[in-house]
Amino acid sequence: MFIDPHIHMLARTTNDYEAMAAAGVVAVIEPAFWVGQPRTHVGTYIDYLSTIVGWERFRAGQFGIRHYCTVGLNSKEANNEALAEGVMEILPRFAVKEGVVAIGEIGYDEQTELEDRYLRKQLELAKELDMLVQIHTPHRDKKRGTSRTMDVCEEHGLDPSKVVIDHNNEETVQEVLDRGYWAAFTIYPKTKMGSERMVEIARHYGSDRMMVDSSADWGVSDPLSVPKTAHLMLKRGIPEADVHRLCYGNALDAYGQSGQIAEADWTNPPEIDQRTLYEGNSVLRGQAPRVDSDGSGPERHADLERLSPDELGVEN
Ligand SMILES: [Zn+2]
Repeated sequence: MFIDPHIHMLARTTNDYEAMAAAGVVAVIEPAFWVGQPRTHVGTYIDYLSTIVGWERFRAGQFGIRHYCTVGLNSKEANNEALAEGVMEILPRFAVKEGVVAIGEIGYDEQTELEDRYLRKQLELAKELDMLVQIHTPHRDKKRGTSRTMDVCEEHGLDPSKVVIDHNNEETVQEVLDRGYWAAFTIYPKTKMGSERMVEIARHYGSDRMMVDSSADWGVSDPLSVPKTAHLMLKRGIPEADVHRLCYGNALDAYGQSGQIAEADWTNPPEIDQRTLYEGNSVLRGQAPRVDSDGSGPERHADLERLSPDELGVEN
């Protein structure tokens, strides 16, 4: 079993969900993030957050994967002050929704003054709501940006054991671990951190408080990074217990502190019935629906009656 604790499924297809489930991915965490171009209205943000706590969670479940998310104002958009203020107002109501495991991904991008202001505000919000924090570290000037982020977390009195620092590399990992934080590694297929480099990190640092994720989104990325890296680590002689912690156990231990994610969610999952509707919509597009049982509960019948022949996979 694998957990991908950082992946943007909203940008991925149902083929990805099927491939991930087949590869053993049982759960994913979808951080609120940048959609590729700047959002210009807080309303867009509200709908985006509603989607990752709602429809996307439902959609993942229809393909056998449990879906959780983190909510936050990302660093790039913190630079639009009017938008940022609006997002800070609506964030608390999303933070307390079911399946939200942390405030995230938040942190620095270009390390501007506004990014700093909204990072601090969101750390205060996490403290106030007693929530975990998921940190995005900058891709440029990473080492300094990572140290600075931890300084700020400590200035605001956050407990490092409740903070996951992501996008680490060989330059940042030692300090992140020494200071007591969780260290996540985003494995990209072509650039930055690849699976081969992760093998060496696991060989050198072991598996305590570290985890692997794909950060797959709309860019060149691989939703199978976690299982692929796990297989490579095993092949290269990393002990199985370490691989298990890096690709499953530590993500569960870290985010499990939220009380929103537990192993029973996928070891004892609800049965899949792809005829189920979410706000009137299903994942069916004419294919035969996957139905794990012939279930005859009243709700399921009610749903059935509302479905079109197309959605039922019936030939017209
Ligand atoms: Zn991300």
